[in-house]
Amino acid sequence: MDFAAAAPTPSRTAPPAPSGREPWAPPELRLVCLDIDDTLIDCTAAIRRTLHALTGRGDLWPLWDLITEEHVALVVAGKLGYDVMHHRRTECFLAELGIAAESVQVAAFETRRREILARSWRLFDDVLPCLEWLRAAGLCIAAVTNASGAHQRRKIAELGLSPFFDHVAIAGEVGVAKPDPVMFHSVCLALECAPEQAVHVGDKLDTDAIGARDAGLGAVWLDRDGTGRVGERAPREVYTVSGLGELPELLVSEYATVGVPVQRAGETPAARVRGGVF
Ligand SMILES: [Mg+2]
Repeated sequence: MDFAAAAPTPSRTAPPAPSGREPWAPPELRLVCLDIDDTLIDCTAAIRRTLHALTGRGDLWPLWDLITEEHVALVVAGKLGYDVMHHRRTECFLAELGIAAESVQVAAFETRRREILARSWRLFDDVLPCLEWLRAAGLCIAAVTNASGAHQRRKIAELGLSPFFDHVAIAGEVGVAKPDPVMFHSVCLALECAPEQAVHVGDKLDTDAIGARDAGLGAVWLDRDGTGRVGERAPREVYTVSGLGELPELLVSEYATVGVPVQRAGETPAARVRGGVF
């Protein structure tokens, strides 16, 4: 048979993919974006410890979390800056406990809260192996986080995460917050990467996973607590993992350009972290 002579008719030929790659080829991956709080850093545990140290009570996390969600929503909506939000959140928290605090007392409580909190940050156990793997696989890594700039940069530096990131996007510095697509696109622009060549991983289904999907990135919901088994459900386009240890296999199976990483010669960022901070 002479296959060269038998060109397929136009009606039997699939149209080219928009990007020029073959329509059946898996997408390429160049960039992995990671949320920080409760994705890399166990913030919930740190805040629980801090509230207990400040009040002697172990039952106040749900109240604090509820008040935080309400106040962060105002920041995301552009109605409050982070500094004002922090003060008002603490004022509201104390009021809910029946404490009518003067402004100076609120400020003192907030200062003490931050001091204790800064000593309470811990990485989840699966963070450093995952970051090492992403680096060894040749992928760019970015942090994409809703928080105030100075606060979050200090946390990232003190926990030894800075060497891993090619770019850090913090809502307080960018001027918008997840799920606004501008947050995700600002990272893609900075690293000269198309949104479809990036994936974002975070613990919030709405602001992280669905936000990333709507911005054109691959989306991974990190459901450490198994919330998806009892309540929240991810849409079909969102991948769900229960820990960062599951991320390498997911990326290798779903993306074309991610392979088994090679061991790089010399010192790695995690080795420096283990040798220095921990
Ligand atoms: Mg988070």
